[in-house]
Amino acid sequence: MKGHTKHIFVTGGVVSSLGKGLTAASIALLIERRGYRVRLQKLDPYLNVDPGTMSPYQHGEVYVTADGAETDLDLGHYERFTGTYCTRESNFTTGRIYSSVISKERQGGYLGKTVQVIPHITDEIKNCIRALDKEDVDIVITEIGGTVGDIESLPFLEAIRQFRQEVGRENSLFVHITLVPYIKAAGEMKTKPSQQSVGVLRSIGIFPDILICRCEQHMTREHKEKLALFCNVDRKLVIEEKDVEHSIYEVPLDLRRQELDVYCLEMMNLHVNTVQMSDWEKMLDRLIHPKKGSVRIAVVGKYISLRDAYKSIYEALSHGAAANDLSLSIKMIESEDIEAKGAAALLSGCDGILVPGGFGDRGIEGKISAVRFARENNIPFFGICLGMQCSVIEFARSSCGLQAANSSEFDPGTKYPVIDLMESQAGIRDKGGTMRLGAYPCTLSQDSKSRKSYGCETISERHRHRYEMNNSFRKTFEDKGLKIAGTSPDGTLVEIVELPSHPWFVACQFHPEFQSTPLNAHPLFRDFIAAAHADGTKQRTAVNAQKN
Ligand code: GLN
Repeated sequence: MKGHTKHIFVTGGVVSSLGKGLTAASIALLIERRGYRVRLQKLDPYLNVDPGTMSPYQHGEVYVTADGAETDLDLGHYERFTGTYCTRESNFTTGRIYSSVISKERQGGYLGKTVQVIPHITDEIKNCIRALDKEDVDIVITEIGGTVGDIESLPFLEAIRQFRQEVGRENSLFVHITLVPYIKAAGEMKTKPSQQSVGVLRSIGIFPDILICRCEQHMTREHKEKLALFCNVDRKLVIEEKDVEHSIYEVPLDLRRQELDVYCLEMMNLHVNTVQMSDWEKMLDRLIHPKKGSVRIAVVGKYISLRDAYKSIYEALSHGAAANDLSLSIKMIESEDIEAKGAAALLSGCDGILVPGGFGDRGIEGKISAVRFARENNIPFFGICLGMQCSVIEFARSSCGLQAANSSEFDPGTKYPVIDLMESQAGIRDKGGTMRLGAYPCTLSQDSKSRKSYGCETISERHRHRYEMNNSFRKTFEDKGLKIAGTSPDGTLVEIVELPSHPWFVACQFHPEFQSTPLNAHPLFRDFIAAAHADGTKQRTAVNAQKN
């Protein structure tokens, strides 16, 4: 029955980077485990239509949904934590909302009215929230990006205030996440910033039902009572969310111990079914207490100083390590440093090398050197998107005698454009939302490593790129020993290349990291880690034998 969907709104106060996305994802997981069908969405107050055109330094990773939307990285948490999927309805920005209102205005859609923030922008925001009110959705969790008190957030807050007014208290919940800082000099935790943040919310008509307090140390009963009293929240609904010790995947268990999910359901008059988390607990145990040793992976990127720029890659590596019962250490290497210091100086001692995606020519030669180092030294190698393109360039230069090989992205006049613009991309001028985006099928070839990993012939993986391997070099590459391990079903686009002569050298044009979850590690990440560990063990044994 449509119209039965209930809504939870998550806002953040005091400072940004409180982990609202993780908290929203954790609540979703717990509620889902209680038998409800949940969807998540994030409303972002910035003016870009989507984060696709933003620098990774600004925004971190751009997460790509199966339906081809370029979205906020919190959607990655949503998909990794829960069994739900995200779509382009899972992320709206101020820019997208205005652009839709303005285009409606140009079409005469407002019938002569003056178009205003209230009611037209707020109505559009409410439509975005209602977009997930579907027959098969029981609860929608909407995270409001930014921090309460920001000018940009106001229309969103006004919209959710109105929304509750329309659907009623039993059909909607306000969860406010705030910071309770520890002031070292005073040796005390302070509740005042949270009180003030709730004060701001109340001044615009939002009265939070639940307060989630991010903190570095445990809160005392007094802290909770004080916050309950001054913020008008029931004492049991002041929830502590202390920094986790080992893994972000501990957060749901911590919130469950405090019965946050039970309170959420009760307040919305929903039956509290039993919850089953033993698989999650088992996964966490493997992640935190691996028993089979360790593996060291180098990630050679272009935006290394910002951890968020490769969020899904790091997560997928950790899933792969847990699946192999191994502990993981990641060496993050800026590709320009390889250009300055040489690959051997930075990559020796690593068990596996991963070159992830990216754009533009800065640091490319460093990435290509990393590929060469992995290939020549038989170190397990995993190339993703730009990483695959670099491995094709490296192969062309080193193994096919095409010294001047390059991608036309980095050298438009290159003599050997082994990576080239797709025909369908040639005439495109706009940058936003115009790449090859979203899930596409891929057929794996019989005796490839990828086929063995996936255990099936046809897969579906997400893409975000303009350039492709140039088919006019395909025969040369194959003759010289590069295996085309996966293509589009019609055979025209190369999706995976492998080097059969190497212990594990797999490079794919798509982004497998977006489909890896802690309960279900992506097969390529799982097997890359397994190969790296096997190889590392071999190398260590050889070194020890030499020493003896
Ligand atoms: N810049 C390359 C392209 O557009 C690779 C993109 C990526 O790594 N996501 O094809």
